[in-house]
Amino acid sequence: MNDLNKFIPIYEPFIEANESKFLQDCVKSGWISSKGKYIDLFEKSFAEYLDSPFALSTSNGTVALHLALVSLGINKGDEIIVPNLTFAASVNSIIYTGATPVLVDCDLETLNIDIKQIEEKITSKTKAIMVVHLYGLPSFLAEIKLIADKFDLDIIEDAAESFGSEFNNKKVGTFGRVGCFSFFGNKTITTGEGGMITFKDEKDYNKARILRDHGMNPNKTYWHDYIGFNYRMTNLQAAIGYAQILKADYIIKKKIEIAQIYKKALKDIPGIEFVKEFDNIKNTYWLVTIIIDNHKFGFDRDYVKSFLKNCNVDSRPVFFPIHQMPPYEKYNIGKFPNSVYASNNGLSLPSSILLTRDQIERICNCFIEIYNKKNN
Ligand SMILES: *Cc1c(COP(=O)(O)O)cnc(C)c1O
Repeated sequence: MNDLNKFIPIYEPFIEANESKFLQDCVKSGWISSKGKYIDLFEKSFAEYLDSPFALSTSNGTVALHLALVSLGINKGDEIIVPNLTFAASVNSIIYTGATPVLVDCDLETLNIDIKQIEEKITSKTKAIMVVHLYGLPSFLAEIKLIADKFDLDIIEDAAESFGSEFNNKKVGTFGRVGCFSFFGNKTITTGEGGMITFKDEKDYNKARILRDHGMNPNKTYWHDYIGFNYRMTNLQAAIGYAQILKADYIIKKKIEIAQIYKKALKDIPGIEFVKEFDNIKNTYWLVTIIIDNHKFGFDRDYVKSFLKNCNVDSRPVFFPIHQMPPYEKYNIGKFPNSVYASNNGLSLPSSILLTRDQIERICNCFIEIYNKKNN
């Protein structure tokens, strides 16, 4: 197969010499478990990069969310507001604590939680709003903060898909009482598997650190203050993470460039919509995602997906809305037309920073080819 037809995956990690060098350093030193210098280096450099007072690494993004919720005291009987259109882990982490996820529909211009529908879902049991910044685009944090303050709720940011994204020149993950990140292999920066929690408050940070380490009292070995967890990251993961954070600016710059190339190439094709741009919001485009209006475009999302597949181009449908899936049946309260529309018509395109300009052109040419069929 020649290069022109080479498979283009939806994502590839950007691994270079430093990742290998730092990993070898771990292996040679014997510090391969969850103690070692890279844990500290990664946590400190991550906190510094975001301008957050505290950061705590975890073994993945899902447990980062669970640990964040437990450290804030979220429990059975509590209700947490969460968008219906998200990766299931956001909602699962709430269910793990015994609390109830209260689903809110998305807004079609951003695919994030529709802020106009939050207040009507708040009850006397509501403890927090879990904000998910989907596909790299920050939610409307100023408005969400006004609602949270009005009802005395905590904000938990699921920033797993939005490392480096900004709202009013401030990085997401620093707005809420806690912010959670994922470093899965396809995320903006990766440690293979891994996660991080950022905290505003030192007390929350200290509690989460103890809970992460089996609930063990740091000054009294094998004395357990809580029923804790082992949610620690290894020094090996952190070594990769540290190498990644050193080049975070470059990664983010490339991701934005890639999105701009797509947007420019597809801007004249009717029925292909990107999420909106806002003056005070920096989208880092974890996955460049489009909504295909099949009346205007002439073909629907599933057709486009299979056409791309035949061109050896990977793509990914937008998440299924949580309320439609059987395990979440009892949380299906209210109406979610926008999530359903986005899920049926949304498609994420290859977004790795290893993509070449030629590859992006090849992908965009597929769209032009499909659209031209309409007129034949
Ligand atoms: C990836 C992701 C997570 C979970 O992260 P893992 O590291 O895979 O456990 C949580 N929330 C969202 C929105 C994600 O995209």
